[in-house]
Amino acid sequence: MRIPDHLEGDAGGKVALLDLTYAELEDLALSLGQPRYRAAQIAAWVYKHLASDFKEMHNLPLALRERLAEVSEIGRLTPLEEITSQDGLTRKVLFSLPDGHTIESVLLHYKRRHTICLSTQVGCSIGCPFCATGQAGFERDLSPGEIVEQVLYFARELQGTGQRLTNLVFMGMGEPFLNWEATWKAVQAFTDPRRFGLGARHITISTAGFVPGIEALAREESQLGLAISLHAANDELRERLVPLNRRYPLEVLMEACRDYVKRTGRRVTFEYALIEGLNDSPSHAQELAGLLSGLLCHVNLIPLNPIADCAWRGSPKDAVLAFQRELRKEGVPVTVRMDRGLDIQAGCGQLRSRRGTCQAK
Ligand code: SF4
Repeated sequence: MRIPDHLEGDAGGKVALLDLTYAELEDLALSLGQPRYRAAQIAAWVYKHLASDFKEMHNLPLALRERLAEVSEIGRLTPLEEITSQDGLTRKVLFSLPDGHTIESVLLHYKRRHTICLSTQVGCSIGCPFCATGQAGFERDLSPGEIVEQVLYFARELQGTGQRLTNLVFMGMGEPFLNWEATWKAVQAFTDPRRFGLGARHITISTAGFVPGIEALAREESQLGLAISLHAANDELRERLVPLNRRYPLEVLMEACRDYVKRTGRRVTFEYALIEGLNDSPSHAQELAGLLSGLLCHVNLIPLNPIADCAWRGSPKDAVLAFQRELRKEGVPVTVRMDRGLDIQAGCGQLRSRRGTCQAK
């Protein structure tokens, strides 16, 4: 029995199981001469029992397990380096991909939550000057399976300690809306009750402000969360910090945010990295409050996580708290997120560049 062309991996290689939609998984089962319900069994093994080897799938006939191992593979990521912060709450993994590129993912433990921060691209084309990933340039998009596998890796680790992952944030390397097809396919694997089965409300897409992506998400009227890396409330400063602002200035971005709230009823989260002496004064806070006035939103303040070769530093604690007070005075809901995992270089792309594995360097 022949594997349908549309399921075959790169260069006619093995089928990448994690790249498949549920319907494609059914196609694979049928092409192997199996009943359709085998797809449900395979999906349960991969996404619910977190099997990493076909040998574990003991309710499948032995001949099918052997055939699946011949024609397909479950995972393609190899962990190269793992580090845990001193407080044990942040764990970062550098993975290598089959073509030698590397990506990072982070597991963050909170009181009642276990959150994974995912990458969607190798590198990033947006080029934010304070970001190690942006400085290394763009290499390629990740496949849906390469996004999904980051989650399965940490989910297995949590399972071993009797815990379950609760939240996903697409806030690692890359701009998710510039690799939307693969990101959306991965989101479907995470939310499909037959596969991972996580509620859409527990998943957040973070963007540098790619307006067509925000509009597409609003049209879906899905319950996914939306976070925007804002960092400045005027175009002049934002263009320096987030070059994408030249294509989608604040007026256009805020209009897209208002439309998103109207269509979904969900608030928008704005990430604001505080940089000493650049965007952290009380007048910057007032400007931000003015920009967000009347919008259903929440602001997360994060002192910048410093990278090598960048003169900018995170704001000191008293400046962060003064900024927060100013926003509160103006009625803006705001949370301070003090640096997580500074000692393990948890900022996006830092571990990868430290190892000299940035392909663009
Ligand atoms: S901060 Fe995000 S959008 Fe900006 S360069 Fe880094 S990964 Fe890309």
